[in-house]
Formats: sequence, C-alpha cells, structure tokens
Amino acid sequence: MVKKPVHGNISSQKAMDLENKYGAHNYHPLPVVIAKAKGPFVWDPEGKKYIDFLSAYSALNQGHCHAKIIKALKKQADILTLTSRAFYNNKLGEYEKFVTEFFGYDKVLPMNTGAEAVETAIKLTRKWGYEKKGIDSNKAKLVFCENNFHGRTTGVISASTDPTAYKNFGPFLPGIEIIPYNNIDALEKILTEQGKEIAGFVVEPIQGEAGVKVPEDGYLKKSYELCQKHNVLFVADEVQTGIARTGKLLACDWEEVRPDVLILGKAISGGVLPVSAVLADDDKMEVFKPGEHGSTFGGFPLACTVAKAALEVVRDENLAHKAADLGKVFREELRNIDSPLIKKIRGKGLLNAVVIDETKEIEAWEICKQLKHNGLLAKQTHGNIIRFAPPLTITKAQLEDGLKIINRTFRQLIK
Ligand SMILES: *Cc1c(COP(=O)(O)O)cnc(C)c1O
Repeated sequence: MVKKPVHGNISSQKAMDLENKYGAHNYHPLPVVIAKAKGPFVWDPEGKKYIDFLSAYSALNQGHCHAKIIKALKKQADILTLTSRAFYNNKLGEYEKFVTEFFGYDKVLPMNTGAEAVETAIKLTRKWGYEKKGIDSNKAKLVFCENNFHGRTTGVISASTDPTAYKNFGPFLPGIEIIPYNNIDALEKILTEQGKEIAGFVVEPIQGEAGVKVPEDGYLKKSYELCQKHNVLFVADEVQTGIARTGKLLACDWEEVRPDVLILGKAISGGVLPVSAVLADDDKMEVFKPGEHGSTFGGFPLACTVAKAALEVVRDENLAHKAADLGKVFREELRNIDSPLIKKIRGKGLLNAVVIDETKEIEAWEICKQLKHNGLLAKQTHGNIIRFAPPLTITKAQLEDGLKIINRTFRQLIK
C-alpha cells in the first residue's frame, strides 16, 4: 500500500522517479525527498520528520523559511522584483550600504551564485594585477590550493585538482598555479619565485568540500602577510565558511585577517534566493568600469531585500556566538561517541566533520543512509567524510537530539 502524501501531492517515489527520468544525472542525492521545511526540520511527502544537519551546504545558516526573511520576500515580491542594471532601483543602494558596513568594505559587487562571485573575484584580481600592479599584458597568475572547491564554472574548475570536477571539461584557463593547502612554505616559495606575475592568492579559510579541513592556527595570518609583502591580493572564498558558520562572522576573523577581496554566497540570503557578493575597497573595485562586468539578476531588488533581512537575522540572533558555543558542545559530544568507525573529528563552530575509518567495511554513504533512517540528514563528502552543519538557529536541545541520533546510528552499525 502506497501511503497518500501529506505534504504536496506526489509521493517520495514519484518525486525521485521524475528527477531521475527528466533531470540530468549530475548529482547523486541521498534517497530522501523534502517537501516542507521549518527551522532545522524538514519533512518528506509522507510526513516523516528529519533534522537537517547539512543546511544546504551552509546556505541555510538562518534555518529553513525563517519568518523574518520570508516576510521580507513576500512583501517585496508584490512591489518590485527585477529591474536589470540598465536602471537604478530603490533597493540596491540601500542594500549595498548595509552589506558594505556589515562586512567593513568600501564597495560590493553583487552577483547570484557562489561560482559567479568567484569568477568575479578572478576577473577583479587579474584586472587589478594589470592596471594597479603593472603585470605585463596576459601574464597575470593566480595561486590556488590543492583540493579547493570554488564552484563549477569552466573558469573556476580550471583551478580544481579533483578529476571529478575537471576531467573532460578542458581546455582550461591558463595562469593558474596550485600549491598545497595549509603550507606556508609553499606559498612563500611561489611568491618569492613568481611574485611579480602573481595577482592574487585565492583561498578557503577552511576547506569545506574537501572535508572541513581546518588549517593550522596562523596559516591565514601568515599567508596574508606574505601576500602583502609581495603585493598580491589575498582573496578569501568564504562562500561556505562565512556568515557566522564557524563561530565568527567570517572564518578569517579567527586570525584577524581582513581579506583584500572577500567572496560571499550561500547564507547571505538565508537559503531563499541565489545571492552572492564580492567585497573590496575602492582601490581594487575601481578597476571595474561601466560595461566591463555584470549580470542581469545581480543585485536585483528582491535579492537585496532578502539578503538584508537574512544578514539582520545573523546579527539580531547572535548566530556567530551561537555557532561558537554549540560547536564546542557538538565536537565534545561527538568525541564521546565510542565507535571504531570514527577516525577523526574536526571543525570549527558548527562546520564539523567526522572522518570514517576507510579500513572498516562501512562507507560514509551507508552511514548517511542509516542516519536518514533514524531521522537526521547529512551527506558524505570525498568518500569517507561526513560533514555536519546544522542551521545556526538550532537550539541546544535540538542539537542534543541530533547527537543522540548520530550516537545511536554509530552503535547500530557496529553491532
Ligand atoms: C558552494 C561553494 C561555492 C560555489 O557556490 P555555488 O552557489 O554553488 O556556485 C564556491 N566556493 C565555496 C567555498 C563553496 O562552498
């Protein structure tokens, strides 16, 4: 007997069948269908409730369907949604003032997706390299780190070291140098040898997709100082780590580093619309002149309204402090789980990961399926790593409930 759906009008099976038949197979989702969500919870069509420990890769730091953000969305949707940048609108400037003050930069360049913001930062950094640093025409180089994740566009995957991301998508963007992550000597070496042609160093303060790789204390600070010394822009991709996720507004704040170019996305809209941003001071941003870069939707009034509300939630609900406090509880209790499957626990704030021992029979994918069965959603990354990143609006009691499920799941799997 197939149960009649209680949320929406199609069953989980039907929803999965439709995606499989009509959608490109560029993802391999966990077999769960989400039909409704509120705060840290989601429900499938049949009414089963789950606690969301992925938060759409940290796009939902404010939780699902946050009342204040949705209210702003609905109100603005009736008034004005899109103008294009052919004209001014009465929401963009107000948002630009707000967001630049919020993060402490002179200017913002609004885009939509994270990858677009990274592309924008690449273009900005290259142009700055020619026009301000004086790099010879078409010689500018950018330094990226091994195992980076900056999105899926052709430009961005040119810097990827993951064959799944780049294989058979070439030829790639030239002028990219790759160094190991969390290796200050490698950065010093390349800057010393090629610094004159290097325009920027693009880095994630914590490598999220790579499996929540937290660099050593001091890495960001020393990297920043080296960049300064060689007149190279320090470009931080905080699309996943930014906006309170790691226990500070920005992960770079942990080392009091102020990136020359800051890339934001994901949670800037609280998971409501694709909104991204590149922030920098005037001496960098002024390299963009009218007509030289843009996007039809970038900075659209609806997005501006939503993003402002979403950032107000981060501030008013003290989400950075919450992430710091709950993160400590979370890691401590994860460490108390006594399971031979767990090799390592790492993270900062509420961006954490459990590394599964590869020598054991059970794969992270199977563990995620069992977690799902027990009512918690998480997703493996890079084979044997499970990332746990609940919404930052989660209460301590809800977090404890999640921990109980994680604990129970690990016990069930080794019996
Ligand atoms: C998700 C992510 C991106 C890409 O964002 P999209 O909105 O998916 O294009 C870029 N950088 C980092 C660090 C990310 O986590």
